[in-house]
Amino acid sequence: MRVTFTPIHRRDKGISGAIAVLQDVTEQERLEQSRREFVANVSHELRTPLTTIKSYTEALDDGAMEERELAQRFVGVIRNETERMIRLVTDLLHLSRLDSNQAPLRRQPTNVPDMLEEVADRFSFQLRKKSIRAEVKVENGIVNVLLDRDQIDQVLDNLVSNAIKYTLDGGRIEIAARMAEQSSIAISVKDTGIGISRKDLNRIFDRFYRVDKARSRNMGGTGLGLSIAREIVKAHGGSIALDSEPNVGTTVTVTLPALHEGGAAS
Ligand code: ADP
Repeated sequence: MRVTFTPIHRRDKGISGAIAVLQDVTEQERLEQSRREFVANVSHELRTPLTTIKSYTEALDDGAMEERELAQRFVGVIRNETERMIRLVTDLLHLSRLDSNQAPLRRQPTNVPDMLEEVADRFSFQLRKKSIRAEVKVENGIVNVLLDRDQIDQVLDNLVSNAIKYTLDGGRIEIAARMAEQSSIAISVKDTGIGISRKDLNRIFDRFYRVDKARSRNMGGTGLGLSIAREIVKAHGGSIALDSEPNVGTTVTVTLPALHEGGAAS
């Protein structure tokens, strides 16, 4: 709580009173603190790949360039780190557009069964590589829903890519849609992966929060996928929830208002 006093001056009488303003600064401080943390995180996340790129470039300069195999490996590392930095900056720009409402929704009638089949197809190579079986299940009656297809595709891509990243070879993934309460549809991505412990669950949507930083980095993660998903779902007037049990699996459920053409929910 911040208190500021402003004296009231009366002609000839000097100070005759004061106005006290009580201001609740806890929310302001909390926002300021999270802004500081965000800037520190961004700097750190960019500094790590830059340091790697610098040291590998120096090693090439110091002679590694002469050994063809070594040089190829080092160039590969530099390329990977650069690509990760590009992904990070792209994610940050996307978040910033979502934060400032500069990513207006372009809702269009979207065939939900096709949308879910297509996300599974996009990942067929990665799924096959890890021998993960993916199944798409859509409740009867769910067809066209008004949503921003590009943005919801991004949400689904983030969720399915996480499900693959954090599921061991030979696991299973289910992508499903069903009607939910209050004329909404629930789209879920369920995996049989490593899961998330209870203590990490309530921070999992925070920007840059990762259960295992090194693991996420090795897999090319930026730590922003779930935060972006949450912002997109919020912009649609929906919600996102994550349910998980270590060594059993994780289910992420996105609930969206089932708007149909004409704007009404049915
Ligand atoms: P990342 O780029 O690290 O995957 P996300 O924001 O998408 O970032 O996810 C944040 C963290 O949540 C991940 O680093 C991981 O620890 C955890 N996580 C997300 N999805 C899953 C999942 N399906 N199974 C287990 N852990 C997950």
